[in-house]
Amino acid sequence: MNLPIRQYGDPILRVKGKRVDKIDNRIRELAANMLETMHAANGVGLAAQQVGEALQLTVIDISEVEDRPSTMRLNGKDVDPTAEMPLVLINPQITPHNETSAGTEGCLSFPEITGEIERAESIALAAQTLEGDTIQFEAGGLLARAIQHEIDHLNGILFIDRMNSAAKASLASRLKRLQKETQRGIKHRAAVASDAAL
Ligand code: ZN
Repeated sequence: MNLPIRQYGDPILRVKGKRVDKIDNRIRELAANMLETMHAANGVGLAAQQVGEALQLTVIDISEVEDRPSTMRLNGKDVDPTAEMPLVLINPQITPHNETSAGTEGCLSFPEITGEIERAESIALAAQTLEGDTIQFEAGGLLARAIQHEIDHLNGILFIDRMNSAAKASLASRLKRLQKETQRGIKHRAAVASDAAL
């Protein structure tokens, strides 16, 4: 099922995700819906907060991106990252490596807004899979960037928080407008829901 994507201004985007203690049907269904929603929106990653659930759960798929390379080292071996996609990462633990670089990012919760964000060029990651196994790998390039962006979401951190002050200032009025539109939408939905309850 394609889920509505929460936009900037929705308070859930600022909520730190709760640990997933049990991988049950609800989590499996949510992950499947998140994958469908991400693919339908042509995104490379989606966090649970972006579909209204504050949980430590994110999905990633960089396999359609051809112009920005990724690397992945799994069980001590370099692998083709596209063959490992999509990833469903539950309760991820990230260790960013020291080297950083700036790169362009967008976010499905910020339509048409992009920014240059400084991130670690490579990371080590441990997470649970939907099968309840532990997956551990190292990632570089776009995959490392996407994972850092999504794990930020799981902690209530948004990419605008990592923009420099000049970039943020130049986006200020667009962000304010988006925030207002989102909050108007939430109020409207609440009003419709309370009418329906009568
Ligand atoms: Zn995002």
